[in-house]
Amino acid sequence: MKPASIIQLLIFAGLVVLLVFRVSINGWGSLAWAFGIVGLSLIRAPHQRTSDSTPTEKSHQDTTEKLLLAGVSFGSALVPMLHLASGLLRFANYDVTIAVPIAGVAFLLFGLWLFWRSHSDLGRNWSVTLEIREEHGLVTGGVYRRVRHPMYTAIFLIYIAQALLIHNWIAGPAGFVAFLVMYVIRVPIEESMMRERFGEVYERYVAMTGRILPRRKREV
Ligand code: SAH
Repeated sequence: MKPASIIQLLIFAGLVVLLVFRVSINGWGSLAWAFGIVGLSLIRAPHQRTSDSTPTEKSHQDTTEKLLLAGVSFGSALVPMLHLASGLLRFANYDVTIAVPIAGVAFLLFGLWLFWRSHSDLGRNWSVTLEIREEHGLVTGGVYRRVRHPMYTAIFLIYIAQALLIHNWIAGPAGFVAFLVMYVIRVPIEESMMRERFGEVYERYVAMTGRILPRRKREV
């Protein structure tokens, strides 16, 4: 394990301990959220290792992409962690009924399932940023059968869960807002990259799928 990952893990473990001690202040939803973040990292870890050792044919990562990724880490991890551990943003807290965090857990579980399935289906073609791998294959099966961006659907579900589990007007929706900005900017670039690489085949795939929600009818 690299020293940076050990430090990351220690900071993370420290914050989780803080969260446990502050659960009476933040509510149990905050713990469910923290477990969700751990689940997300565990699902991604083996795919990150595969990704690190898979050769890239063409990278489309630029400064905008790096800033967007940093914004998402900020809104979905750093801001909520700091707030839950320190009460920094407590002026923006609000109360909810029990149904809200229960709905949050449902969104979180469905989101994590879809996150896991989309990583498995993409296999070695997955990358955290926009890249075409050597011998990149177009995946059109599994959860990609009727939706082109099921991993982004999963991430939206998980960030909706964040808003339902953390009852704060800033730390709750921060992940969703940061990812929405990234989604709006990234998807057209990603789709034109796929069009350039797969041409006609991708066009046909687009005609049969929805972006983040399943297309009702498959056109033949
Ligand atoms: N947008 C997809 C994948 C996100 S990961 C989703 O939300 O599920 C981003 C990488 O996945 C991109 O660099 C692209 O090379 C790759 N990718 C996206 N769709 C793909 C597909 N249908 N088949 C193979 N690779 C794909």
